[in-house]
Amino acid sequence: MVARIVPVDPFDLVVFGATGDLARRKLIPALYHRLHDGQMPDEARIVGAARGELDRDGFRRMADAALEEFVGAGELDPDARRRFLSTIDYVRLDALSSDGWGQLSAALPDADERPRAFYLSVAPRFFGQVAERVHGAGLARPDSRIVIEKPLGHDLASARALNACFAGHFGEHQIYRIDHYLGKETVQNLMALRFANALFEPLWNARHIDHVQITVAESVGVEKRGPYYDGIGAMRDMVQNHLLQLLCLIAMEPPARFEPDAVRDEKLKVLRALAPVTDLEAVVRGQYAAANGTPAYAADAESAESRTETFVALKTEVANWRWSGVPFYLRTGKRLRARVSEIAIAFKPAPHSIFPGSAGRTGQNVLAIRLQPDEGITLGMTIKDPGPGGLRLAPAELDMTFADRLAQAHLRMPDAYERLVMDVIRGDQTLFMRGDEVEAAWAWVDPIIAAWDERGDRPAPYDPGSSGPEDALMLMHRDGRRWREIAA
Ligand code: NAP
Repeated sequence: MVARIVPVDPFDLVVFGATGDLARRKLIPALYHRLHDGQMPDEARIVGAARGELDRDGFRRMADAALEEFVGAGELDPDARRRFLSTIDYVRLDALSSDGWGQLSAALPDADERPRAFYLSVAPRFFGQVAERVHGAGLARPDSRIVIEKPLGHDLASARALNACFAGHFGEHQIYRIDHYLGKETVQNLMALRFANALFEPLWNARHIDHVQITVAESVGVEKRGPYYDGIGAMRDMVQNHLLQLLCLIAMEPPARFEPDAVRDEKLKVLRALAPVTDLEAVVRGQYAAANGTPAYAADAESAESRTETFVALKTEVANWRWSGVPFYLRTGKRLRARVSEIAIAFKPAPHSIFPGSAGRTGQNVLAIRLQPDEGITLGMTIKDPGPGGLRLAPAELDMTFADRLAQAHLRMPDAYERLVMDVIRGDQTLFMRGDEVEAAWAWVDPIIAAWDERGDRPAPYDPGSSGPEDALMLMHRDGRRWREIAA
């Protein structure tokens, strides 16, 4: 495997909220890696902006500490570290007033035509103000980019309002809505697997696929974010964006080209083809209970009567010719048995077994795409159990764990943000959500949440470290199927 790095042009990146968690944990390390690997040029300029009383050196020290913490002191290359820090500048600025915007203008010399991007790593309530002030200060050019990420609204109405607010200042081709799941290597590999190989596409339909499972399980609870998370819940926080985006990549038709709008048009068609959930039995919601000294969600959320779900399992269908009758089961939750994100495509069994009963049963072929941990793809097959003891059938896995291949080539698994931030600079929107996709996802999710609200009951409690509430298991058992184990 050869890592081919195509350097990007020198650019200006303004990070609003540069002293916050996302910037320190993800953006600064991602940019460091891109410089270290030769993709980000030394002439690039990263301008951090926040209200904190820092000067350039103070912010560089903060960025350096973020590298030590999140890249690891032992992993840092001294030369790349020095060169990276020298690309960094800082401007004290308030999103809610005119303070600091003149200095930001001065930090971005207008003369050069470098790609310019504004990363809004601030709370969503500031998005509108920042977009307006970027525009008002004359900082945005027709090709400047603006980057935002979830939550992209709380429901369809607020998502539409957010889209309208950005549309007032930026064209759709300038808006980069991040779903970091789309930046994961395995997710991009899913598209390569489907569309760069002739093998799977003929089987990729209701004739050959029995069902699809998508699981995004976390082992941690809401921790200190309880009061913030309360009133959001797993449906809004995970299903509306990450799980539906993964479903789109599985279910979409082959786009004519691997180009932003060609890909996003196909994803949008999937979202619009999702059958509305009319039967609440097909949607299970849960809330983690207390156990072994860990507090219940209600305690974490500081709300004893909270009806916010920390777990959702649901069954849906993509109502079109390709997928008619194939259930898509989605499941996500906090404080489950392990931290696992996985898509499993379960194929229909062989139509007829030629083997005697004594050989054992033929298994189901399952293509499992694992996003975390250990990104990779496995294909479950039935083979002859090796050895002279007669013909016995046994399960075996074809394993494409990427970490092994990367390790052999002395490469590192890049973080999703590395890819996504470089795509922003390159002006490639393929892995970013378009406004109409976000709205279509809310349009599907909203009625489910409204039906829960109307029913007014509480989510089913489930034990921490389990696979979620019993009803989630029943959702599959009723159909004669089983969830895959949640195991790291
Ligand atoms: P955070 O830790 O609270 O950081 C917020 C940043 O905004 C700080 O740098 C803060 O610095 C700055 N800020 C606050 N008020 C400001 C103002 N009036 N003007 C200018 N800057 C201001 O938040 P975060 O976790 O990094 O999240 C940032 C965004 O990313 C949010 O939209 C969040 O939903 C999204 N997100 C975060 C994550 C994550 O992993 N953290 C994941 C997904 C999405 P000062 O107070 O010094 O101004």
